[in-house]
This record gives sequence, C-alpha cells and structure tokens, in this order.
Amino acid sequence: MIFDTHAHYDDKSFAEDREEILRSLPENGIGNVVNVCASINSLERIIPMVEKYPHVWGAAGVHPDYAEEMTEETLSRIREVSGHKKILAIGEIGLDYYWHKEPENHLRQQEMFRAQMDIAREEGMPFMVHSRDAAEDTLVIVKEYMQKGGMAGGILHCYSASLEHAREYVKMGLYLGIGGVVTFTNGRKLKEVVREIPLSNLVLETDCPYLAPVPYRGKRNSSLYLPYVVQAIAALKGISEEEVISVTEENARKLLFA
Ligand SMILES: [Zn+2]
Repeated sequence: MIFDTHAHYDDKSFAEDREEILRSLPENGIGNVVNVCASINSLERIIPMVEKYPHVWGAAGVHPDYAEEMTEETLSRIREVSGHKKILAIGEIGLDYYWHKEPENHLRQQEMFRAQMDIAREEGMPFMVHSRDAAEDTLVIVKEYMQKGGMAGGILHCYSASLEHAREYVKMGLYLGIGGVVTFTNGRKLKEVVREIPLSNLVLETDCPYLAPVPYRGKRNSSLYLPYVVQAIAALKGISEEEVISVTEENARKLLFA
C-alpha cells in the first residue's frame, strides 16, 4: 500500500472534512501517513491526531519560516512531543531562503536547523528536511551531521535540488521525497532526478494541502491523489506502478519503523 511520508492534515483547509479523509485512506490504498508539524502550533495539534487513527503517524519539528519565533521552550517542546510512540521523525526542519532574504534570518534558520538536527541525533530519530532556494547550505549542514555519525537517516522532502546533489544525498544513504511536482510539465529537473536515482532511495509524499498533482494542480491536495504521482514515477522509470508502490513503501518502513 502507498506510504505518504509527508502530509499536513492539521492545516485549516481540512477543517470541514479532515476526519472523513483520514478515515477513508486505508480503503483507498493509502496504508500509512506521516503528519508533519510545520508551525509551532502544530506541535500542539499532532498528538490527538496520531492517537485517533492507527495509520496516522507524526513528525515533530518547526519549519524554517518560524525560525525567529522559536525559543528554547519550542526546542524542549519538540523533544517532548518526539517522545510519543507514534512520532517517528523530527520535521519539518531546514532552510527557506525563498520567503526570507535577510542574512540575519538565514543565520537564525541555520541555528534552528542545527538545533533540531541535534535533537534527531540525540533521540535517534530520522529527520525530514525542507529546503527552498537554499540547496548549497542545506547540503553543507546535512553532510556535517551525517559525517559526525549517530544519525538515523532522513528524507529530503519535496526534493527540488540538482541531480548532482541528489547523488550526494544517496551516497549518504538518505531518501528523496517525491510528490506532485513530478507530474508538472515544468518539473523537468525533478523528472531527471527521478529517472536517474534508484527507486531504493525514493519515498512518496503529498505535502498536502500543497502541490496537488496534475490533473488537480492548484487544488487542495490529499493522499488520495498519490496514484497520479505513482503513475508518473512508473512512466519515467519504465517500471510497473505496483513496483513503485511496494518499493517506496518498503523504503519508508525501513527508515521510519526501524
Ligand atoms: Zn511540508
């Protein structure tokens, strides 16, 4: 069954039908979903969600957008939430230089990224990295931690960097998260990455409510649209959809259920 490694069902766009969608996932071929914290507030919403459904898991962390609002208290809350048995990873953490251009902000983002990578190492949990317009700095920090040792691995979520960087991440034993962008006509760079990188290093994700695949591009995304992503990956690699589903599920289980 499909393993959605990255979703945001605590987003307000699911206010009307969250329960209905989450309940319907297994009967629609979605075996497991990781609901990933983005904001500081989502740390407070995640536990009731993961406790309600056996197939819904969580990741605890704060997105770089909130780097300036984060405090020592936020970091200890992440550590606390990560101790719950259904929280599988630290995320989403990383760097976003697209929305934030000020150099002081970038330094703060890097500091908070490292602080959360420290939590991942100390708690022995995989990390989930967000990176936008910050490919070089992301690679430097991830490499720094992977070389230090003691990391439980991780996912480069919504992978958007170059093939060259993708190969570096694969060498470190990490996974690339592939979602709706692979179905976009302007997703050429990502299509090349998907073609070249072995299936054994790819995992599926929605990042819902964002990044719905074609033919729903621009609409609210959900795990129910993942078959379109599976179709696109299968076509690019010249393999069956069943193989895409079973290998990416196995990858996600190896990393997250270890
Ligand atoms: Zn996300």
